Amino acid sequence: MTEARHWHALDDGRVACDLCPQACRIADGKHGICLGRVNEGGTLFAQNFGRCVSVAMDPIEKKPLYHVCPGREVLSIACNGCNLRCDFCQNWSISQEMTRTTALPPEKLVRLALEGSSFGIAYTYTEPIIWFEYLLAAGALAHENGLKNILVTNGIVNEAPLRELLPYVDAMNIDLKSMNAEFYRTYCHVDGLDAVLRTIRLGAEQSFIEVTNLVIPGLNDSEEETRELVDFIADVDPAIPLHLSRYFPTYKMTVGATPVATLERAAAIAREKLHYVYLGNVGLAESDTRCPTSGNVLVRRTGYASEVVGIEDGKCSRCGRPADFLWCD
Ligand code: SF4
Repeated sequence: MTEARHWHALDDGRVACDLCPQACRIADGKHGICLGRVNEGGTLFAQNFGRCVSVAMDPIEKKPLYHVCPGREVLSIACNGCNLRCDFCQNWSISQEMTRTTALPPEKLVRLALEGSSFGIAYTYTEPIIWFEYLLAAGALAHENGLKNILVTNGIVNEAPLRELLPYVDAMNIDLKSMNAEFYRTYCHVDGLDAVLRTIRLGAEQSFIEVTNLVIPGLNDSEEETRELVDFIADVDPAIPLHLSRYFPTYKMTVGATPVATLERAAAIAREKLHYVYLGNVGLAESDTRCPTSGNVLVRRTGYASEVVGIEDGKCSRCGRPADFLWCD
């Protein structure tokens, strides 16, 4: 097994994991909340290194990332486990329970991506932060081979490991579940809002980011909270794409599905300050990207299919405004 990074020993034989704000104190032979890190004889090991629970080739739009290499497919992989225990987890069978994994060492992963003509590797479906040591190894090898690394993450990570990881990360979709710290404590079982906000700020400085907010009726859909969320993103960068995603009852959450009208109201608020706002999980909603200056359609979308129609040399073909995209070679 690979020794974990970011931990320290405690006097009583337990170890303290310093990777994320859950701050697990782990007894000998036990694992942390995320299922990925285990104390063996007073040393913390990343037992999930190179162990994979899911492999698929997906459109990048499915992550969702609408402004990264539009129209391309990306090799998408997941580890088993998560550092959160969200009551509304959509992938609970692989994130909340120990399940069977297969070996996928970094060399094999990169070979798969190259053979599949993928532009990169997306670490997704569950929480990639808990795959930290694998991300560093696979991410470095991917870069050496001209591939991009994409994280779809909850953003719940401590600052030192985040800074160590960011040079290997080309783009992220970061989940901002709520602007209310109590929401994170009650429904995700973590004291983590500040960490997510920090990940968004640092991520925007050193990587390309998009943000997703899953809108749940009565829990995080008030106008006040939507405005707070939009103000925060706009303060970081109004060009960060925001995906407002429709919630459906799942796992332990029995609240009814989000009315589409609620999402449209939130989108109207968001468009007052943000350049790119999209609705998710609502069927064939309008999801084209328009130039914020000229209104020209830059990228036309139908479902997960994208076609670049209004960009020339990285700029709007009508007004010349630089397009806010991360392009593939
Ligand atoms: S990464 Fe896992 S073991 Fe470490 S603190 Fe977070 S949940 Fe606990």
